[in-house]
Amino acid sequence: MIRGRYAPSPTGYLHLGNAFTALLAWLQIRREGGVFVLRMEDIDRDRSRPEYADAILEDLRWLGLDWDEGPDVGGPCAPYVQSERLSRYESALDRLLEEGRLYPCTCTRAQLKAIASAPHGLGSEGPAYPGLCRGRTLTDELRQSRYSLRFRMPDEPVSFRDGVFGEQTFPAGAGGDFVVKRSDGLFGYQLAVSVDDAAMGITDVLRGEDLLDSTPRQMLLLRALGHPVPRYAHVPLILGDDGKRLSKRHGSVTLRELRQAGVDSRRLTGCLAHWAGILEEPEPLAPQDLIPRFQLSAIRKTPVVFDDAKRRGLFG
Ligand code: GLU
Ligand code: ZN
Repeated sequence: MIRGRYAPSPTGYLHLGNAFTALLAWLQIRREGGVFVLRMEDIDRDRSRPEYADAILEDLRWLGLDWDEGPDVGGPCAPYVQSERLSRYESALDRLLEEGRLYPCTCTRAQLKAIASAPHGLGSEGPAYPGLCRGRTLTDELRQSRYSLRFRMPDEPVSFRDGVFGEQTFPAGAGGDFVVKRSDGLFGYQLAVSVDDAAMGITDVLRGEDLLDSTPRQMLLLRALGHPVPRYAHVPLILGDDGKRLSKRHGSVTLRELRQAGVDSRRLTGCLAHWAGILEEPEPLAPQDLIPRFQLSAIRKTPVVFDDAKRRGLFG
C-alpha cells in the first residue's frame, strides 16, 4: 500500500501554489488507492500560528481534499503535528551523534558572513558552511554553551530519479554540512521531515520544486538513520507574472480570498489540473473526478505563470 502526505507549514494562508501541490499529492495517492496523510509542520515557533493551521484544514476541505490520517482525524502514526513530536527528533539526533554523523558548531552568524570565499550553497540558501568546526566533538564543557549541531555531508554524490524531473545527481557535499539543531534549540526542517516521513511510512513524496535540492540531504539523513528512502516527485511552482513567487503583491492568491471573491472550488481544481498538464481543457472538475486523469508523467516541468488570463479563468 502506498502512503503519501501533504505537509504544510502554518505560517500563512494556503495560496494557489500550495493548492496545486496539495491537489497533485492527493491525486497521486488516490489514483493508486493509497493512504493520504496530513502533517502539520509547525516546528518554526516564530513563524507558525495555530489560526493558520486551522485555516489550512478548512481550505483543503473546501478544495475537496480529504485525508486518512492527520491532526484532526488521528491515526496509527499520531501525533501528526511536528511540535508534538520533538522527543522523536531528539532521539534521532542522539543516534546520529553516537554514530559520529554530527558535530557541534559554535560559529556565529557574523563569523560565517565574514568568510567571503565560501563557495555558494544550494538554491537561495546562501553560502555553504565551510566546515570550520568539522573537527570538534561534543565535550561536557561545550554542552554548557551555545552550539548548533551539523550533519557531516559524506564525500560522495547523491543520485535519485525524480518522478517529474527525471534523473538527478548532486555533487558530493552539495550545500555543505547543514544544521539539524539550531543553537536556540529548534530542530532543522531537514531532520524533522526525514524522521517523520520514515515514522509515518511514507513511500511517495510529492512536493514543490523549491524542495528538490533538499532531497539529497533528506536521503542522507534517512540512510544514516537506517530507514528506507521514499520515491520523490517535485512539481513546478506557480509564479506571478513578474516571474517571482506568488505573494500578496500579485493580488488575491490565497484560497480564502478567491473563495470570498466567488471562485467555485471545482472550477479552481479544474484549472489547477489543466495548468499541471493532466487536463486538456480547464473544465470544472472536483478532485474526485480528476483521479482517473492523474498521470505523473504528464505533469509539466516548467513553472506555471499566474497571469491575468489565468486569473480570469478561475471565475469562469
Ligand atoms: N513544510 C514544508 C513547506 O511547507 C514542506 C515539507 C515537504 O513537503 O517536504 O514548505
Ligand atoms: Zn562552526
